[in-house]
Amino acid sequence: MLSPLNAHKIRPDHLDRQAFIYVRQSTLIQVRDNTGSTARQYDLVQRALDLGWPREHIIVIDQDQGHSGASIAGRDGFQFLVSEVGLGHAGAVLSLEVSRLARSCSDWYRLIEICALSDTLVVDEEGVYDPGQYNDRLLLGFKGTMSEAELHWLRSRLLGGKLEKAQKGQLHFRPPTGLCYDPVGQLVLDPDQQVQQVVRLIFDVFDQSSSALVVVKHFATHHLLFPTRSWGGLHQGELTWQPLTNGRVLTILHNPAYAGVYVYGRTRTRTRLLPGEAPRIKGRTRQIRPVDWPIVLQAAHPGYITWEQFLRNQQRLEDNRTCHPEEHRGAVREGLALLQGIVLCGLCGRRMSVRYLPDGVTPIYVCAQLHSQRAETTCQSLRGDRLDTAVAQAFLEAMQPAQLEVSLATLDQIEARARQVDHQWQLRLERAHYEADLAQRRFRAVEPENRLVARSLEHDWNEKLAEIERLEHEYATLPKLTAYLVSPEERQRILTLAQDLPTVWQSSTATAAERKQLLRFLIKDVTLTRCETSVHVGLRWQTEALTPLDVPLPKRSYDIRRTPVTVVERVCALAPHHTDDQIAALLNQEGLAPGLGGQFTESKVKWIRYTYDISTGCPQGPAACPEGQRGDGRYSARAAAQLLNVNVSTIADWCNAGVLDGLQAAPHGPRWIKLTPDIIAQLRKPEPQHWKRCLST
Ligand SMILES: [Zn+2]
Repeated sequence: MLSPLNAHKIRPDHLDRQAFIYVRQSTLIQVRDNTGSTARQYDLVQRALDLGWPREHIIVIDQDQGHSGASIAGRDGFQFLVSEVGLGHAGAVLSLEVSRLARSCSDWYRLIEICALSDTLVVDEEGVYDPGQYNDRLLLGFKGTMSEAELHWLRSRLLGGKLEKAQKGQLHFRPPTGLCYDPVGQLVLDPDQQVQQVVRLIFDVFDQSSSALVVVKHFATHHLLFPTRSWGGLHQGELTWQPLTNGRVLTILHNPAYAGVYVYGRTRTRTRLLPGEAPRIKGRTRQIRPVDWPIVLQAAHPGYITWEQFLRNQQRLEDNRTCHPEEHRGAVREGLALLQGIVLCGLCGRRMSVRYLPDGVTPIYVCAQLHSQRAETTCQSLRGDRLDTAVAQAFLEAMQPAQLEVSLATLDQIEARARQVDHQWQLRLERAHYEADLAQRRFRAVEPENRLVARSLEHDWNEKLAEIERLEHEYATLPKLTAYLVSPEERQRILTLAQDLPTVWQSSTATAAERKQLLRFLIKDVTLTRCETSVHVGLRWQTEALTPLDVPLPKRSYDIRRTPVTVVERVCALAPHHTDDQIAALLNQEGLAPGLGGQFTESKVKWIRYTYDISTGCPQGPAACPEGQRGDGRYSARAAAQLLNVNVSTIADWCNAGVLDGLQAAPHGPRWIKLTPDIIAQLRKPEPQHWKRCLST
């Protein structure tokens, strides 16, 4: 019971205000099972009565049952208590112990601060405290710190025990379907053969298709179900068969237990405070990458796949992701575009997407990320049919047995080089270890009294150890030697396969998806860059080797229709001495053809002369030729009239009279007159010189 020393702190004005009794248990299980503690907490009502509070002034706050005291978030009762104390309605706060009120120092200190300001007493099982008094406040603060520390020790002890068990692989989890614990507690394959078979089927189908969704489709089309074994409870060990879902397949593919590996720490939970009127703490569980898993015990129990296969599956699933198209290839899809998912833009480095022409067959590779994300212009778009053909050809050529022999020979060289590099690394590491040992021996040899020397030697030793660590880390990040090695059996198998490949590729039963999958086994990605007349294709093979290709761009429609340059040059050469129909006949004889095909006609030649500005027909250029002269040297009626200094009608008369040689294609068409210097000199009407003289005088 309370000592009188403490009870004297209760004054009548405390009794006039209310006494708040705070009741809390951390978890619902405690509320259910640990009823003794709850009863003791409710007994505090009697304590308050004994201390002198009238019954109507005692308020029990028990709405925080099942909430941890680690934070005030979600504890409405505690928040109500704090506000009541702040408003000065409380004479005392009663709780069994400090830890019931708060396990966090920040919450606790805030409460005693407010209690001190509003002259509220704090009562626990041991006594009555007045937070306004320094000694009491010190004691209360210390109790709060201990309460938080207690929670920390509790946690770390539990976690430590858990980790120790996990280190030995003895921390048991609910086993995934297909694995179960035997009577001795060892994880084994499920004794039910049907369960084993259905799990193996998932891994087999994924191995062939590289797609979790294809596995789901396979199960759905064949009306197959997938089992779940109940864990705990009434139906412990019973099997329930249900349709397979995508999420289930992903869980299975991501679970290393199927590779016979014991892993602890695949996820990490981070808590965060959700803002709002009533802040809430929310845990967020994140998957950790396999390289960062803290505890990995290889070959801990039998499995369905190997560890290498597990890692390969993770890589494939990673590749299938579409949420970051810049980083991942994406799964193989049904469309005809061969390079879907592995095509990169040579201008900006982003992944290009696939569209189709309205025919639904011809693919177009588009770099439209800048356009879709930032409303900028499309980087480049390229028609894909020729590119697909070129890449497929390069792929099949690379797979030809003779080509493969060469490649395998190159691989031998790479292998030899890799061995050399690896040997170098081994020597380097060995040397670093030797130097560290030496430094250690030097440090040990020095007399302890000789402190200055010992300190510098210790520093030296530490540096050598750090150097070893750095080297080992660097060595670990390098590609492993085994990645370069090809066994003789593998070599033979590759050569045999290569002979069958073109047949498989061209067979009508091969789907676009299968071809793409084949291609991806060898080709990592393809970079496309549009140049002036061609597309530069950079093939990057899985071995990181590069093969450049140049695929000519298809001609634009106006280029296809354009008159060939040779024809224009020929017309230019012929024009000074030939009429248009003569030129047309000559071009046809020489086997030349206009841009659109067919035969040259007079009108077509005329059009060419008009378009390319060779109407003057003079090889010296337009300036050297008089106006109105055509290709064969004949003059128009107007030009002839000017040259002869007569009217156009006179020219017509002279033509009709046979004085001039005038050609007229149609009865009322233009006349083309042949003029020689002699004719001009003979017929030219002299200028009326004397008139000019009369006018000027
Ligand atoms: Zn681009």
